[in-house]
Amino acid sequence: MPAQYRVQCDCASVGLPLTGEPVVRGFCHCEDCRSLLKIPYHSINAWEQDGFSVEAGEALLAEYPHPTLDMKRLFCAKCGETLFNTNKMGWRVVSRSLIRKCYENTLPEALPSQSHFYYGRRMVDVDDDFPKIDSRSGVACPDGAAC
Ligand SMILES: [Zn+2]
Ligand SMILES: [Zn+2]
Repeated sequence: MPAQYRVQCDCASVGLPLTGEPVVRGFCHCEDCRSLLKIPYHSINAWEQDGFSVEAGEALLAEYPHPTLDMKRLFCAKCGETLFNTNKMGWRVVSRSLIRKCYENTLPEALPSQSHFYYGRRMVDVDDDFPKIDSRSGVACPDGAAC
């Protein structure tokens, strides 16, 4: 299957084709993403492992395994930019900031947001129109409710 999208790091040493439909598109507010990446929430498109390969520079793809979580952050050993992270489901999670950067600062139209995930665990409130999903109940938070 041809690559539908492609991202690369700042120095262009490592390139990743992203094929097939992402399993998740949106924003993750869980503690695990925060702990791995040191960001308030993660804006992501995630692919199953089989929709994902390293096209170039695999030898330069370095990994930081989280000391306690079953997650890794993969980055370019030359320029330091993070290409993706993995989680315990085995997904390959690509930051939408990186995808945007590789597409002239515009997220491709076929990769729209679905919702905010794990919103009940959030560190910051987000005021937008996407559904806010509370991981524990799996249902959308009522308007304005702190779930
Ligand atoms: Zn690089
Ligand atoms: Zn998360």
